Amino acid sequence: MALKTAKEYIDSLRTLGTRVYMFGEKVDNWVDHPLIRPSINCIAMTYALAHDERYKDLMTTTSHLTGRTINRFCHVHQSSEDLVKKVKMLRLIGQKTASCFQRCVGMDAFNAVYSTTYEVDEKYGTNYHENFKKFLIMVQDEDLVVDGAMTDPKGDRSLPPHLQPDPDLFLRVVERREDGIVVRGAKAHQTGSINSHWHLFMPTIAMGEKDKDYALSFACPSNAEGIYMIYGRQSCDTRKLEGGCIDTGNNKFGGQEALVVLDNVFIPNEYIFLNGEYDFSGALVERFAGYHRQSYGGCKVGVGDVLIGAAALAAEYNGVEKASAVKDKLIEMTHLNETLYSCGIACSCEGCPTKAGNYQIDLLLANVCKQNVTRYPYEIARLAEDIAGGLMVTMPSETDFKSDTVVGANGETIGDICNKYFATREGVKTEDRQRVLRFLENICLGSSAVGYRTESLHGAGSPQAQRIMIARQGDIQGKKSLAKVIAGIPEKE
Ligand code: SF4
Ligand code: FE
Repeated sequence: MALKTAKEYIDSLRTLGTRVYMFGEKVDNWVDHPLIRPSINCIAMTYALAHDERYKDLMTTTSHLTGRTINRFCHVHQSSEDLVKKVKMLRLIGQKTASCFQRCVGMDAFNAVYSTTYEVDEKYGTNYHENFKKFLIMVQDEDLVVDGAMTDPKGDRSLPPHLQPDPDLFLRVVERREDGIVVRGAKAHQTGSINSHWHLFMPTIAMGEKDKDYALSFACPSNAEGIYMIYGRQSCDTRKLEGGCIDTGNNKFGGQEALVVLDNVFIPNEYIFLNGEYDFSGALVERFAGYHRQSYGGCKVGVGDVLIGAAALAAEYNGVEKASAVKDKLIEMTHLNETLYSCGIACSCEGCPTKAGNYQIDLLLANVCKQNVTRYPYEIARLAEDIAGGLMVTMPSETDFKSDTVVGANGETIGDICNKYFATREGVKTEDRQRVLRFLENICLGSSAVGYRTESLHGAGSPQAQRIMIARQGDIQGKKSLAKVIAGIPEKE
């Protein structure tokens, strides 16, 4: 079964029995939990669209390992065209969910681990690449969701892993056995971890010899003995417990992050992809980060498309859509959003093959892409809030709009009063105005703001991480030489 349906994906989660905790308690039926379900619906969209004739070319492809049709989220990119299609696919799903749909982290991890294991084997004669290929074939054939798990809690940021007062603050080996390793530690703010069938762990920073026990990559089922997850809360998340459908803003879709804890988990040899070869830790991090920074030039643009549309709707409902200032703000938002897309496409077109044969994005352009993503969504959100007006954050609740509690001298209810004073132009239902404003609030300030704003800043590495890569890849020396040639300054001997 190469392509699961959305329903088959959701049903497959029910039998996993992954240990999940929220608000201090174990959640047994997390699949139907109102705070978690929207994030499951998002990943389900990656399955649903793969069965839609209109999107087959973007959503599915052929496995280079088996020749079978697979979901593109399980693919190892074979060309620049594949890289471009990936960005287009992410934009599409952003448009359909207005949220972070989580499955890309695993796809980006597959591509980084695939090329890195090849090079580790080449240097050390290990068998990691074959291990990884077998794992990937299983993922492709069963159409699994895999969380690419990179970020360790990191403790004292001034200290390397082996000098941390608490050694668990970076994921590490605590025991080496004949048949595998026992690992201990955690990964923080893991996107889509609860909804994943498996996890693919990677180191979080470049490491030295003393950090050998932390230079690890391996795969592990989400329900393995010793793994559990603590759900990360989001702004306004408890609105999802109120039972309404308007105040949540986006009732159906949402992102998800969790703390994933590994409490002495056994990993058999066949699922180990790096085990102490610390000199490859930096390359693995760089490649994963590069792919994920490319991803943002797709997913955030798709969410941006919906945000721009919502702002235009709010303007129309308020009767100001013809005002030149509003039109100009929409132009500016579009310009910024398409600039992000241009970067995502550019770093894909400039992709090149790795030694293992899969394609990697242009690292400089991918980092420029993500650096822009740390800025432009904030400006797009600012302009959306500007167009929406203050009512986006001052409007009474959905319950008030529906309330039949009498407050007026003539028997008017709270609902009557809300509907009277928040009415707008003729032909626009007050409820539609309510919906669009709550939707804008959701992306700019509510639970989806995790995905659109803060994740734009810190996801796939904080801004400074991209600046370090831009400095490394920017070739200032080469640029100096260009200037010297034209200015007639000889190069020193
Ligand atoms: Fe995918 Fe974007 Fe979410 Fe990362 S932030 S997991 S690329 S949707
Ligand atoms: Fe992310």
